[in-house]
Amino acid sequence: MHPASYRDTWAEISLDAIEHNARTFKKNLQRGCKLMAVVKADGYGHGAYETARAALRAGAEYLAVALLDEALELRAAGITEPLLVLGYTPPRSVEKAVRAGVTLTVFTTDVLEAVEAAAAVSSRTPARIHLKVDTGMTRIGVRTAEEARSIARQAIQTPGVALEGIFTHFATADSADDTFTREQFRRFMNIVDHISDDGIDIPLRHCCNSAATMQYPDMHLDMVRVGISLYGLLPSVASERDTHPLKPAMQFKTRLVQVKDVEVGTPVSYGGTFIAERPTRIGTIPAGYADGLSRSLSNRGDMLLHGRRVRIAGRVCMDQTMLDITDVENTEEGDPVTIFGKSGDAFLHVDEIAELMDTINYEVVCLIGKRVPRVYL
Ligand code: PLP
Repeated sequence: MHPASYRDTWAEISLDAIEHNARTFKKNLQRGCKLMAVVKADGYGHGAYETARAALRAGAEYLAVALLDEALELRAAGITEPLLVLGYTPPRSVEKAVRAGVTLTVFTTDVLEAVEAAAAVSSRTPARIHLKVDTGMTRIGVRTAEEARSIARQAIQTPGVALEGIFTHFATADSADDTFTREQFRRFMNIVDHISDDGIDIPLRHCCNSAATMQYPDMHLDMVRVGISLYGLLPSVASERDTHPLKPAMQFKTRLVQVKDVEVGTPVSYGGTFIAERPTRIGTIPAGYADGLSRSLSNRGDMLLHGRRVRIAGRVCMDQTMLDITDVENTEEGDPVTIFGKSGDAFLHVDEIAELMDTINYEVVCLIGKRVPRVYL
């Protein structure tokens, strides 16, 4: 679902890789546990619709996005499967969500009341909600058993409203130290038990993101929410598991649009921060920071050309970037360049770029701009 593009920069997405990753997770889940595919932020830059379809083909039972707008886009594209908005939905938008059959996250009474009002006027019932519990992320969610019980009691008393789920989110699941995750899990189960002591049975209890799903099978409960690893990337080095051999789904590619030989002393790009110290061959690519190629990679980041590493020469511009391609033989305009992914036998991993940018792989793939066409393989 991308417009035709006339530019020589694109992101290649392997839907087979996404299916493979989703199947790998499915295979390792505890019995009866469902897979929720997290496709927020346009499927972490991979395309929400295509990713959702691939994950569903592989057996995912639920989808999740961050915002109602994202959920409505998927509904408009024809996705009819269960779909949860993980973030806050303002009361004024709740009726729209209920009418679209979108499951909402609830942690305040004003949103619950809006759900109740919407359920009363919508034919699309039950209006499904998941109660969010804050066990240590200190982001959104109720913090005490009393608050949780009060919302749960109110929800189950309202006709047309289904309290289908309860969930929390871990802050340190990707760390090698399990102390805080175990403490968050203990707090979560304590609140779940309090609610169940009231005779309220909530069918979908969920807390695991990608890292926790791989590291803590004992915490799978009724559903896991897998985001980053659906796309074949690891939440952290500590998360790597032999049980989950993942395939990175995205490659970022472009082509040389001009090749020029410059003499010693020639400055390159804004500010002239690269100055040729030898007769140098410069290749220009039509991709820059407006495409998600961070300016912090200026003079530091590598790309692949004919399977060989080449360094960014000078500052990354908004739409174009120059490379020092002197050491690669037989280069010409039109040659493909890999920003990350495969080139010949070489592979440049998105994690390497994340490290240079002093960030995480999540941000690198999310930053790839809208104007970069996604090509599905
Ligand atoms: N659940 C919630 C509430 C999230 O915010 C996220 C992503 O940030 C996820 C699950 C998926 O996490 P990950 O991408 O680490 O698997």
